[in-house]
Amino acid sequence: MQLNSKLPKTGTTIFTVMSALAAEYNAVNLGQGFPDFPMDSALTDMVTAAMKAGNNQYVPMAGLIRLREGIAEKVEQLYGAVIHPDTEITITPGATYAIYTALTAILHPGDEVIVFEPAYDSYIPNIEVNGAKAVPLSLKGNDFSIDWQEVRSVITEKTKAIIINSPHNPSGAVLTENDMLELTAIVRGTGIFIISDEVYEHLIFDGYQHNSVLRYPELLQRSFVCFSFGKTYSCTGWKLGYCIAPATLTAEFRKIHQFNAFTCNSPMQFALSEFIRQPEHYLQLGAAMQEKRDYLLNLTKGSRFQFLPSHGSYFICADYSAISEEPDDVFVQTLTRQAGVALIPLSSFYGEKRLSHTVRFCFAKKKETLQMAAERLVKL
Ligand code: PMP
Ligand code: GLN
Repeated sequence: MQLNSKLPKTGTTIFTVMSALAAEYNAVNLGQGFPDFPMDSALTDMVTAAMKAGNNQYVPMAGLIRLREGIAEKVEQLYGAVIHPDTEITITPGATYAIYTALTAILHPGDEVIVFEPAYDSYIPNIEVNGAKAVPLSLKGNDFSIDWQEVRSVITEKTKAIIINSPHNPSGAVLTENDMLELTAIVRGTGIFIISDEVYEHLIFDGYQHNSVLRYPELLQRSFVCFSFGKTYSCTGWKLGYCIAPATLTAEFRKIHQFNAFTCNSPMQFALSEFIRQPEHYLQLGAAMQEKRDYLLNLTKGSRFQFLPSHGSYFICADYSAISEEPDDVFVQTLTRQAGVALIPLSSFYGEKRLSHTVRFCFAKKKETLQMAAERLVKL
């Protein structure tokens, strides 16, 4: 059978490809973004207890209400936002799904969506599968900042949404207060929606503050704000997250969600509805992850990688021009096979292939893992 592909240019994601290659060559995997240290056993104990207590049937379509209430309390405390748990929060099977659902709720064929590259690799296929067009703009300089003048210059009557992501995957860049004010001014009086990917909200370093869209009521009224429990509690395999959006937008979001996943697994929601009420678990995360970034940087000081600044996320990028002239997609293959370290090429975060000599490291790993990788990298 032949089918007319909706995504003819799309292959298997680089994260799957590099994790498979790392396993094949028994390489240290600093590629795909997931922690290799254990999650908190207090939380897994709560899941076991929830299962044993019989909480194993469907929860409501939008998610367990006690969990949504916990999220509302948390975001009011952190960001001063008053969010209605019944009409403005939907629990989803991960943030990727939440972003896809938001885009599917708003996009019609021919619409345009502004995306900043390098971009998390699901955004552009999510736009295109809805018959819409991605308008990619490059982030500028070593600090991967947004040129707001350029954003203004590409807005047309077809612009339906802008996707932002802070702290940023893959660079670790963080949007400033000024960025948020620029964005607010640009969309004021337009019909443009904002999709804000905030999965790394707690993974923020160097005294930076997370400028959530939830802090900006004028932006929030046109936004879908997406979060991931996987990142917050070091359990990426749970694939659980949520989307916060005003009631009218949430109603459309749920029309898509109810005929796709319908609802998410119950025992984990019961457990999270208690755990989320203990803020110490997420409040210490940034400092712990910053220590890992610094540990990797210290161990690789003697290497020929030129690291770029990262103030958040699981990731840091580095230029390897002093080591090899190979393009990054080839270099990561050579490195995995010959040096035993798997990384992600920066070019895979661009819709159109571009030449790059930059790679992304994931430092959300045990000290032993970072040490083993660094020993190999300093020899190059
Ligand atoms: N957005 C970004 C920027 C990410 O790095 C990730 C990584 N997993 C996600 C979304 C997806 O999160 P989830 O696993 O909850 O779908
Ligand atoms: N977000 C993770 C990363 O950027 C991976 C998620 C995935 O494998 N899709 O590495």
